[in-house]
Order: sequence, then structure tokens, then C-alpha cells
Amino acid sequence: MTFKTLDDADLNGKRALVRVDFNVPLRREEGADGQVRDDTRLRAAVPTIEKLRAGGAKVILLAHFDRPKGKFVPEMSLAPIAPALAKVLGHPVAFAGDCVGKEAAEAVAALKPGDVLLLENVRFYPGEEKNDPAFARALAESGDLYVNDAFSAAHRAHASTEGLAHLLPAYAGEQMRLELTALDKALGHPQRPVLGIVGGSKVSSKLDLLRNLVTKLDKLAIGGGMANTFLYAQGHDVGASYCEKEMAETAREIIRLAGQNNCKLFLPLDIVVAEKMAPGAPARVRGLGEVDEDERILDAGPETVERLCRAMANSNTLIWNGPLGVFEMPPFDKGTVEAARCAGNLAAEGKLVAVAGGGDTVAALNHAGCADQFTFVSTAGGAFLEWMEGKELPGVAALSKQNRR
Ligand code: ADP
Ligand code: MG
Repeated sequence: MTFKTLDDADLNGKRALVRVDFNVPLRREEGADGQVRDDTRLRAAVPTIEKLRAGGAKVILLAHFDRPKGKFVPEMSLAPIAPALAKVLGHPVAFAGDCVGKEAAEAVAALKPGDVLLLENVRFYPGEEKNDPAFARALAESGDLYVNDAFSAAHRAHASTEGLAHLLPAYAGEQMRLELTALDKALGHPQRPVLGIVGGSKVSSKLDLLRNLVTKLDKLAIGGGMANTFLYAQGHDVGASYCEKEMAETAREIIRLAGQNNCKLFLPLDIVVAEKMAPGAPARVRGLGEVDEDERILDAGPETVERLCRAMANSNTLIWNGPLGVFEMPPFDKGTVEAARCAGNLAAEGKLVAVAGGGDTVAALNHAGCADQFTFVSTAGGAFLEWMEGKELPGVAALSKQNRR
């Protein structure tokens, strides 16, 4: 990979303008006062901030919060994040009520090496999402160098995620580096055989992803609601299951593509059904084609999970997106939980490089209690999915292009 990291930068006394992802969930209930509910993303920024401070840089943080659509929206201010970050960092964090102009300039001018400043929400300006060069130049006023540490925003070509990389010497932050290295190990240059698991609800939302994966993987297991569509496409009755019948031809096309690319496809061997999609609904294991009219397929069956675990044991790399069943409603979490533990154990024993990502997938791995055992779990959501689709991420591309100049 062809991007510069902080190891390549001369940091001493420099103003480092760092794009981070601080789009964290806040507690909005009465009296909670906008406290941070989950500080994962704040903690993820600490290695970069510490490295910059240790190198004698002045750290100026840029971030977006929510979707203010180019206007100042008080509830979408980053102000509550500064004290929360200070707590995580164990060091004061100053805050400026604007990300450009006089207020930002004065706050930046007051910084000494090692100080940390958070600027207000970049999306308060329409130029951010438009990647307006004039807005990017205004942001660039605050920095001598640019560090992108927000992989999760790298699928957007915005002023603070893409534009800035063309205006200042640009570097990948530590979290960005970690993420890109892990993803490259899983799909870019994996140790083969490499197995993929794609689950979740819709074939239609993961078409590009499936099409890309069958050209790159040795084996691909399909689970979750989208497996229903594949079963239906192969002529199996799916009863009252969630199923995109109009996607049947597309599912058959993916099966053909997999064959042409020597990617072994694993569709369910057995399934778990219930009459109601509700927590605790009575569950039955069924073979394919044994689904009654009023039954729904809500999870992978035991044979399917067992075969999947064997496939993991016979692989060197696993890349996983999408739960195998309706994991939010036990007992239909069983297939996902068992497969996750299987992958977690193999990864913990050093026998499998296991990488996973996707909002619900991360929640499912946490529910199974094995996210920590995985080699890498990406919390990047949309950027992770676009990367799995094989798309170039503008924020990442801008970092590497700069270095080719
Ligand atoms: P991610 O956010 O990790 O990319 P998705 O959003 O694609 O994952 O899919 C997660 C959703 O898929 C979950 O809400 C889960 O309940 C649902 N799902 C999984 N299996 C089924 C099924 N058999 N029927 C209906 N929904 C399912
Ligand atoms: Mg989801």
C-alpha cells in the first residue's frame, strides 16, 4: 500500500490537522446531558493523538456529527465530545465553536506542542459534503499537515476526508493504518484458502459485494435472510420467510459466477423455522423443502453451522459480514453465535485470520462474546461494505495519490 504514515512525518512543532470519526451515540434522555453512550470511536483515536503529541505536534481534530446538512444545528454540536475525549485521553481537550475562520484561527494560535483542540462539526458548512475547494482551503489554514484517521468516513469524498489530502502533506493515522492493513490481509493479499460468510437480510443490498467476493474467495457461505432468496431461486419452498423473490434470477447469476470463478458456494443444508418472528417463539429444525406455508426461516440449522465450522478449520482466512439468522431474537441467535465462537476460537489459537465488519455483524459478535478473539473487527459500517464491494474509497485513494506525486 502506498500511503505515508506518521512514522514518515516530521511532527515537531507542526500543526497536525486530524480527521477523526467522532460520530458517537449520545444519551438524549432527560438529565443525561448529551453524555457519550459508547466511546469506542473516541478510544480508537487515542493512538494517533498520543503519537502526534509525543512527536511534539499541536493536535487539531476535525470531525462530523450527525447530519446537519450544511447548517448550524445546536443539538449536533461536537462540544460534548471534548470533555468525553479528555477523559479517555487523560489530557485536556480544548474546543472551538467553529471549524474555520477567526474563532478556529484564534484557538489554533493558542496551542502549544502537545495540546489538543477539537473544532466544531465540519458538516455545519455545506462545503464539507460538496467537497468545495474553497472550504477545504479554509480548513487547511489550521494545519501544516493532514492526518486521516477516519477510515469509516473514507467512502465519502468530502472536504475533510478527501479535499484536504490534496492541499497539505497527507498521512494515514494509526487507526486508518490498522484498518487498511487488516483489510488487506483479509481480502487484498489473504493467506489462502479464504472463506467468506455473507448473511443479513437482503440480497439486493449486498449484490455488488457478492459479485466481488465470488471473484476473490475460495469459498463463500451464504446465510441469513438472503439465503432464503437463494433457496427459493433453487426451487425450494421458503414458506412465509423473508425472501426477495424478484431477486431469484440475480441469485442464480451469482451461483453461476461463483462456478466460473472456482468459488465454492455453501448454501444452507438445514434451517430453523418458526411461525412467528418473535423472541422465544417455538423453533424447529427443518430440512430444505420441509417448510410449511406459515413458517419462516429464521436461522441456520445445526448441520449447516457444523459444515461452516469445518470450512473455517480448513481455511486460513475468514471474512464475515452479516448474521446467519435473526440474532436479535433468541433462540434464533444460535447459528450466528455458534459460528462466531468457532471463528473466535480458531483465531485465538492463531489458526485463522478472522476479520469481520458491518453494524449488525459487530453487534452479533459482541452478543456472542467473541469480538475480542477475532483478528480484526471493523466498526466502519458503510466504508467496510464498499471496500468489500471492491470499490475505491476516495479518502484512501487521496492519501495514496498524494504520495505518488
Ligand atoms: P450488517 O449490518 O452487519 O451489514 P445486515 O444489516 O445486512 O448486516 O443484516 C442484519 C439483519 O439481518 C439483522 O437485523 C437480522 O435480524 C436480519 N436477518 C438475518 N437472518 C434473517 C432471516 N432469516 N430473516 C429475516 N431477517 C434476517
Ligand atoms: Mg445492518
